[in-house]
This record gives sequence, structure tokens and C-alpha cells, in this order.
Amino acid sequence: MAKKGLLIVLSGFSGAGKGTLIRKLMEAHDHYVLSVSMTTRSPREGEQEGREYFFTDEAHFTEMIDRNGFLEHAVYSGNHYGTPRAFVEEQLTAGKDVLLEIEVQGALQVKERFPEALLIYVVTPTVAELRRRLEGRGTESAEAIARRLKRAADESDTLASYEYIVINDDVTRCAEEIHGIVQGARCATARNADFMEEMRKALHAAFDH
Ligand code: 5GP
Repeated sequence: MAKKGLLIVLSGFSGAGKGTLIRKLMEAHDHYVLSVSMTTRSPREGEQEGREYFFTDEAHFTEMIDRNGFLEHAVYSGNHYGTPRAFVEEQLTAGKDVLLEIEVQGALQVKERFPEALLIYVVTPTVAELRRRLEGRGTESAEAIARRLKRAADESDTLASYEYIVINDDVTRCAEEIHGIVQGARCATARNADFMEEMRKALHAAFDH
């Protein structure tokens, strides 16, 4: 029996470096795949349809909700974001470990529907470093940066559902730390219940006389 893949939710402060961590993980290990979300926000410069997001409108997004096409969905800064269900389920069945880069409300929905999902939250080593990274991007107004910092403060109140916090002080080290967490979780009893049940039955069928 093939083992199913793990569902891995990666959230974190805006500016904590989730995108870079995901790229590192996928470069280093070929069993990870990234789920591309659907959103109603407009593409930013350089973003490509189907790479960063599937860009869509409110009507299509609502239709997706109605036909249960999302694993989870949430509103963030006035825009809708959702994880298309079919891709994730196919990849898990194929044994891939699927990464979702989503915010906290969505992460909590995933945990409710898939208790075996692994929830990891990425932070910067210090508040000063978080501010430095956001300012260093040079792409956003002081107001937008202040909004992101305020959101980080709010999110820091609601992290109890995350099993793991990783500190992104060095991207290569942190990516390997995440990989270590995933490797450990793959062996956890709760995440192997189906596999062990099948083995248990096979053992009894073969050796109970
Ligand atoms: P951005 O617009 O900056 O790309 O993303 C804004 C926020 O939405 C980020 O925190 C990102 O992780 C989150 N996000 C992206 N895709 C999804 C999704 O499918 N579901 C949820 N719940 N959040 C998402």
C-alpha cells in the first residue's frame, strides 16, 4: 500500500520569507509540490497566471465555493483566496507532500478538516529584523508596511493551533529544519493509521491459524 503524502500548511509573518523557503525546499527535495491558490486580487507586476495564483473574479470564486471546489478559503485585505481541492487531493494520493502557503484563517479550516495536516508558522528572529525586511523590499509605502506589522501583532495572538514555529534566520538552515519536521511527522503514528491498519489486517490474515 502506498503511503499518502502529507499536507503541510506554511503560514508566517508577511516578510518572514515563506516564498524563499518554499523554493529552497522544492529545489532540495523532489517530493514536495506547491498548491497554487485562486484569488480575486489583481496580479502584481511580474506575477503569472497559474504560477503565483489563478486569478479570477468574484462570480467564478463564488461558483467554486458552491461546488465545494476549495479545501479552504478566506478573505484577506478585501480579496478572496482559496486552495483548489482537486489538485491537492490528487497529489496527496500520489504520495507527494503538498505545501499550502496560506494565512491563519485558512490554516485553521484545514486543521479542522484534515486533523493530520502539519501546521508550521514562520517568524523572523526579531521584530527589528521583520521591520528591516519589510522596509528593505522597497516596494511598499510606510502605511502598507505599518499594516503588515499590525497584522503580525494580531496573528501572534492566534498561533496556538500551529504545531511548529520556525525562525527564519538563515534560509537554507530554516528550510532544512522544516524538512526535518516533515520527515519526523511522516513517521508519526497518527499519520500512518491507514497504512498500519492495512498491515495489521494482512498480518492477521497471513498468520492467524
Ligand atoms: P498576497 O496577496 O500578498 O499574495 O497574499 C496575501 C495573503 O494571503 C498571504 O498571507 C498568503 O499566505 C495568503 N494566501 C494565499 N493564498 C491563499 C489561500 O489559498 N488561502 C488562504 N486562506 N490564504 C491564502
